Amino acid sequence: MARYTDAVCKLCRREGVKLFLKGDRCYTDKCALVRRAYAPGQHGKKRSKQSEYGMQLREKQKARRFYGVLESQFTKYFELASRQKGMTGENLLKILESRLDNIVYRIGLANSRPEARQLVRHGHFNINGKTVDIPSYLVSVGDVLELKDSMKDSPKFKELIETSQTKIIPAFIEFDQNAVSAKIVDTCKREDVSLPVEERFIVEFYSK
Ligand code: SF4
Repeated sequence: MARYTDAVCKLCRREGVKLFLKGDRCYTDKCALVRRAYAPGQHGKKRSKQSEYGMQLREKQKARRFYGVLESQFTKYFELASRQKGMTGENLLKILESRLDNIVYRIGLANSRPEARQLVRHGHFNINGKTVDIPSYLVSVGDVLELKDSMKDSPKFKELIETSQTKIIPAFIEFDQNAVSAKIVDTCKREDVSLPVEERFIVEFYSK
């Protein structure tokens, strides 16, 4: 599957917001956005007035890149969101939050969403007792995510479990640090989304 392979920090600089794609580095002053807070490229420092379409495009790209979703998959999520009851923009963000790789990241069992995606692909997690190695798997209320027993003693996960104490876990997830398992106890709410995004622009983008 085609994936973005260029320097990921450029994506944050393009969107003008931290997308947290590099784990610990994102929280230090080595962060490229802290050091060069302007868009990449020759004309990056020039401030040009953004058109309405430009704003809509940027909000869509910001959300897509934050969750690490390809264009075609993002369009499918939008179509799914527009078929659901309620506000399409909010529905879209809730769907993105329900991805398995996002849940793994939100409970602190990965340092970034790209890392979470890789760990899921390696088959380290069970959902309701069965291995799920599809990062885009959408969790539902009642689902239980567990780190496989065979991984609990690995130095990598021991460290992640230790540092997961410091994470702010959204209210729709109940995380049991001792069992290294997480239950989805509610549907995701708009306030659970940590990305600063104006979803109405995304809806307008697709409504053209
Ligand atoms: Fe973005 Fe992290 Fe790179 Fe900073 S270090 S620009 S937050 S990916």
